[in-house]
Amino acid sequence: MYDENNIFAKIIRGEIPCNKIYEDDTSLFFHDINPTAKIHALGVPKSSCIDFADFINKNNSSIVAGFFNNVEIVIDKLGIKDSGYRLISNSGINGRQEVPHFHIHILGGERL
Ligand code: AMP
Repeated sequence: MYDENNIFAKIIRGEIPCNKIYEDDTSLFFHDINPTAKIHALGVPKSSCIDFADFINKNNSSIVAGFFNNVEIVIDKLGIKDSGYRLISNSGINGRQEVPHFHIHILGGERL
């Protein structure tokens, strides 16, 4: 079951600040508080979804496509489109997901 009090839900509700990169009605992108690369951004849909499968299953195709279009916009905004980057989404125990709200890590700015 989705935990309404996970840290990303609080960031989406504006209860906790974030270093925002991009936001629209359906998603929010911000810098990771503990970056593991020179550039480490996170992207979250605003709807309540635990992981990738939950996001895909609970949302219609225009929301899903909109989210991934925004990932591309943020990659461009971060200036890493040409130099390259890595997209990661951890899920569950084996994926070592820490925050139970679906998110994409965008890593780049250096050779990973
Ligand atoms: P994951 O292991 O995929 O669930 O990754 C969770 C990520 O969230 C980690 O990279 C954390 O550094 C990051 N994180 C946790 N709290 C915050 C926060 N308040 N603001 C930004 N990033 C955070």
